[in-house]
Amino acid sequence: MPELPEVEVVRAGLERHVLGATITDVEVLHPRPVRRDVRGPAGFAAALAGRRIEAARRRGKYLWLPLDNGDALLGHLGMSGQLLVQPPEAPAERHLRVRLRLAGGEREVRFVDQRMFGGLSVSAGGAELPPEIAHIARDPLDPELDEDEVVRKVRRRISGIKRQLLDQNLVSGVGNIYADEALWRARIHGERPGDRLTARQVRELLGHARDVMTAALGEGGTSFDALYVNVNGESGYFDRSLHAYGREGEPCERCGTPVRRVAFMNRSSYFCPSCQPAPRRRRVVVPPAPD
Ligand SMILES: [Zn+2]
Repeated sequence: MPELPEVEVVRAGLERHVLGATITDVEVLHPRPVRRDVRGPAGFAAALAGRRIEAARRRGKYLWLPLDNGDALLGHLGMSGQLLVQPPEAPAERHLRVRLRLAGGEREVRFVDQRMFGGLSVSAGGAELPPEIAHIARDPLDPELDEDEVVRKVRRRISGIKRQLLDQNLVSGVGNIYADEALWRARIHGERPGDRLTARQVRELLGHARDVMTAALGEGGTSFDALYVNVNGESGYFDRSLHAYGREGEPCERCGTPVRRVAFMNRSSYFCPSCQPAPRRRRVVVPPAPD
């Protein structure tokens, strides 16, 4: 699944390669990826033809291309989606779903998606910020993220800090892997309640999340231009640079204690039981029984 840094790589690549380009023609090869567009495949294509791409923006894992009429082409890569910029003569990818031809005939944008959880739609009036995604919080890589507000919100809640990090309405784009890595770096157990963390701890944790994601961005960024534009969701970062995630039973790089894995929301959490001690149970105060 493409993580946020990879989506940012795609955004930056689109910005480099299709800014100012006019869409001449749209071909929808499979209806499923445009299912969220109420106008259907033909209406989707008609809404894009003749429009100029003004920018490439991102909120969390959503991408959008503001168009010259105030609408936007909104996209999500889902589990297996790719947005490629290809020369028109490049052979069609096996799972090519949507093709956007651009004026000039030198390149086209292709939406390739095997499993089709992702998709594209035209957001009416969505150039500034598509209303469909306005509820999604900013992410740690976003310079406009209000960190003080995130810290305040975290410390007002009793739920575990990892659960909060994954809450897309609080801060977006921190996936399971980045959360585990940031918590390991910050030496905080994922079950620690938000209201038991200091402001400084939360701030440091957000900083670690940003560092981990920036590192992944750096590694993913190099593959983008090499393949003209290509992101396949596997930046290679995950094999080389992980300290906790996926390392069950391997020694913690700080203290040598074997990394543990526990079930977490249908996924797994990896942590060092020494560096990241589990929180004590909240003491429940039971009022004395009336006599
Ligand atoms: Zn350790």
